[in-house]
Amino acid sequence: MICLRCNAENSEEAKFCKNCGMDMSYTPPAKKDSLKQSVLFLLIVLGFHYVMFIMWEAINFYVRKLTASGGNSTEVVTIYKVANWFGTGSTVILMLILAIISKNNAVRISLIIFILIRIALNFSYLLTS
Ligand SMILES: [Zn+2]
Repeated sequence: MICLRCNAENSEEAKFCKNCGMDMSYTPPAKKDSLKQSVLFLLIVLGFHYVMFIMWEAINFYVRKLTASGGNSTEVVTIYKVANWFGTGSTVILMLILAIISKNNAVRISLIIFILIRIALNFSYLLTS
């Protein structure tokens, strides 16, 4: 059995490390939970992006049908603006909830950076369109 603190080799029955006195029965449960949670968050984020991707495909399909049947361009611009705000709004809210409940600081910081990038991209999109 390897000591978690000093990496010294100990016998399998050892209760404490012969080198540093570390409790050998100790396992860091918080770290395991945090890893599980991080993986779960990653899956939620990926799943959510997949849903958003499908939403955009559906909107593009609808817009193509609309323009083919002679729909006006103001309507198309409005559709895209509403969809964009809906997409950004729901993404930011989801990321914010995950950032608040996250046990892992690296995950929390990544989510906050992602939120800021997303908001910045949305404003640059609005300014250029
Ligand atoms: Zn030790």
